[in-house]
Amino acid sequence: MLQVSCMSKITDDFYKKLEESLSPKTPVVIESSEGAYLTINGKKKLNFCSSHYLALSTEPRIIKAVKEAADLYGIGTGYRTLAGTHKLHVELEKALAGFKNAEAAIVLQGGYMANCAAIQTIIAKEDIVISDELNHASIIDAVRLSQVGNKFIYKHRDVKDLEEKLKEVQKLLKTPKSDGQQRILLIVTDGVFSMDGDLAPLPQIVELAKKYNAITMVDDAHGEGVLGKGGRGIVDHFNLHRQIDIEVGTLSKAFSVMGGFITGKKILIDFYKQKARQFLFSNALTIPDTAAILEGVKILEESDERVKKLWNNANYLKSEFKKLGFDTGHSESPITPIILREESIAREFSSKLFDLDVFATPIVFPMVAKDKARIRIIPSAAHSKEDLDFGIKAFEKVGKELKAI
Ligand code: PMP
Repeated sequence: MLQVSCMSKITDDFYKKLEESLSPKTPVVIESSEGAYLTINGKKKLNFCSSHYLALSTEPRIIKAVKEAADLYGIGTGYRTLAGTHKLHVELEKALAGFKNAEAAIVLQGGYMANCAAIQTIIAKEDIVISDELNHASIIDAVRLSQVGNKFIYKHRDVKDLEEKLKEVQKLLKTPKSDGQQRILLIVTDGVFSMDGDLAPLPQIVELAKKYNAITMVDDAHGEGVLGKGGRGIVDHFNLHRQIDIEVGTLSKAFSVMGGFITGKKILIDFYKQKARQFLFSNALTIPDTAAILEGVKILEESDERVKKLWNNANYLKSEFKKLGFDTGHSESPITPIILREESIAREFSSKLFDLDVFATPIVFPMVAKDKARIRIIPSAAHSKEDLDFGIKAFEKVGKELKAI
């Protein structure tokens, strides 16, 4: 009896602690599709913060393809290694490899999962990983999952610091592991950094990797559908085809669906297909997801119209914000930060924008440093010039009110 009451006190305390650590905020509920505007609490709000870069979420061709595939094949698929790979998955991997100009591709359930698979499957305790300090949480978690002991962080985009780290590990790299095997040295970076919109210095990273015997990995989540010819990503942007060993992409942003993928040499992709725990022990993408992505790739292969529209919108937005005197950082992509520094200002700014029917959420610590709070705007190909002007006017009004410009 005593034991039971003790246990319940412990569990009560456990739940109480959880409750105390929760923020009172409730997530915003979206009542519409993802387009230039969203409906929130029955009201139309300008959508300035989703990453559906190419407005594919409501593309009729994709919706038709999803319906047709569901009519033909139903919805569900199985564990690919146990229950058989669906032919749509095979088609999708071929299409993605072609789109990225890579030898082969493997599709997983998300960009997060793809990063975990990409790193955990090939990196073990005694290998070496060197990572940009601002890499995405999924890369950080992937490195943790690999249990690698030799982890090094280089200063954000700082190739000098990266070279220092590479020099530092050369002796270790030449020492075999306890099982006699050669160590792997991996340099891993985001392609587009999601909070600032700046790009990884990939050409220099490739050069350093060659010089210091490292393999390279880039997470192209925010470059897919955005950078390069027709949205082929950061490797295409820098014309580094087949020079990066592991390219990870997500299908939840520009492609507006869900899923992640890795491209690289066929031998590497075959290895992932046989060894990656995320592939072996988690189900495959559903038929509607797969059909939607396939149609999305076809659309991008056919025309770069959407990518151009996205960039026109992004360039217009940035130049108007600069004219108004906002600090937009040093973004090289459509991600447009409005840096306000103080967290309280960023929160108040966002709430005032909301009252003016503009939905743009504040980004605060720990997503960015404590003195770098901001509103991050992501325009899309869905926005017209009038939509952007509507948003800019609201930013101007609130900026003046809060003396941010
Ligand atoms: N990498 C980066 C750089 C990202 O920004 C994100 C999503 N925020 C992910 C990976 C995870 O992608 P997904 O949502 O497909 O899991």
